[in-house]
Amino acid sequence: MQVEFELLMPKTLSEALTMLAPAAERGLADSSTPVMPIAGGTNVIPDLRDGRLRPAVLMDVSALDVLRGIRRENDLPGGLPGGLPGGRHGGGFIIIGGGTTIATLLTDPLIAQHAAALRQAAAVFANPLVRNRATVAGNLADASPAADTAPPLLVLDAEVELTSRSGTRWAPVEAFMVGVRKTVRRPAELITAIRFPVPPANSASAFHKVGLRKADAISVLSVAVLVECDADGLCHKARIALGSVAPTPIRARAAEDRLQGQVLTPALIEAAARLAAEAARPIDDLRGSAVYRQRVVGVVTRRLLTAVVDQARKVSSQFFGESPTPEEQSHATQSHHTQS
Ligand SMILES: Cc1cc2nc3c(=O)[nH]c(=O)nc-3n(C[C@H](O)[C@H](O)[C@H](O)COP(=O)(O)OP(=O)(O)OC[C@H]3O[C@@H](n4cnc5c(N)ncnc54)[C@H](O)[C@@H]3O)c2cc1C
Repeated sequence: MQVEFELLMPKTLSEALTMLAPAAERGLADSSTPVMPIAGGTNVIPDLRDGRLRPAVLMDVSALDVLRGIRRENDLPGGLPGGLPGGRHGGGFIIIGGGTTIATLLTDPLIAQHAAALRQAAAVFANPLVRNRATVAGNLADASPAADTAPPLLVLDAEVELTSRSGTRWAPVEAFMVGVRKTVRRPAELITAIRFPVPPANSASAFHKVGLRKADAISVLSVAVLVECDADGLCHKARIALGSVAPTPIRARAAEDRLQGQVLTPALIEAAARLAAEAARPIDDLRGSAVYRQRVVGVVTRRLLTAVVDQARKVSSQFFGESPTPEEQSHATQSHHTQS
């Protein structure tokens, strides 16, 4: 199918934000042609070809180096939403530029060290060709229930940075996706970054995706978990997120609450896995039935939780012998390399 559109190619972020600004702000009378960003194009190009998208104007953001890369910041200017100072997170933040590719997640040392779940999601994302082009911002902005970076980013308590000419705001990933292919991004905003607090050393995370084949598969369901616990297995924090089982990727809050503040025994993990399965609201589709999805969410959650509790306990006893103080946690987070 032949598709016609105007293509804008900004060279700087400021140029890009001006191109996205409402027509009235740019002194134009016609406000009927919103500008659509395109990054890797791995969603947009197939949608253009199939006629699902008919944008009059596309803006290619792939040349904006400022959107790429992964770094650590120990204190963020401006602090956190709600007025919390960023510095209260002793270990600082990992900041992923919105235009960072999925391939970069796979090779980046900060992601390997602090976000095993995200690295594991990158490893099973599409195929190497797509991973080289597909971006994290594009994955979240597309807002598919099967977006593979979303469950890991949910368990990492990540936030999305939305930037327009009028400034910057942060939206938690959970609040960012509000329905199938619907987000809270305004037309004048670009996703410039995604950030999450560096998890303490006595935590571990993991991701598993069930697909119909081993590579290049859309998730039938996916689960990410993160657990922070001491050497005795006392849980300080638990996060469980599910993909492809609801209109958006979701947190399984009742399951998390079952674990928090408790000693993580196999029976408790089993109970939490059951609650995670109950949180799933899947549909029947070509890739799997609702009953299958719900049952397998329980199985995968139990296996992932068992594995990460074991890892977190081992790190805890290796570093602290007993429950770490916040200072010890922060120090260990900076010096310890966890496995992916
Ligand atoms: C063969 C194939 C296999 C795939 N496999 C997977 C998979 O395993 N897992 C998975 O999750 N997805 C998969 N996808 C979907 C797709 O690759 C991802 O969603 C990808 O992350 C999209 O990123 P992109 O940069 O290509 O986005 P684009 O296609 O460029 O854009 C997607 C959306 O994001 C918006 N956008 C892009 N960048 C920005 C920005 N900085 N700010 C605001 N909006 C922005 C665009 O306007 C558009 O709405 C697959 C796609 C293909 C073609």
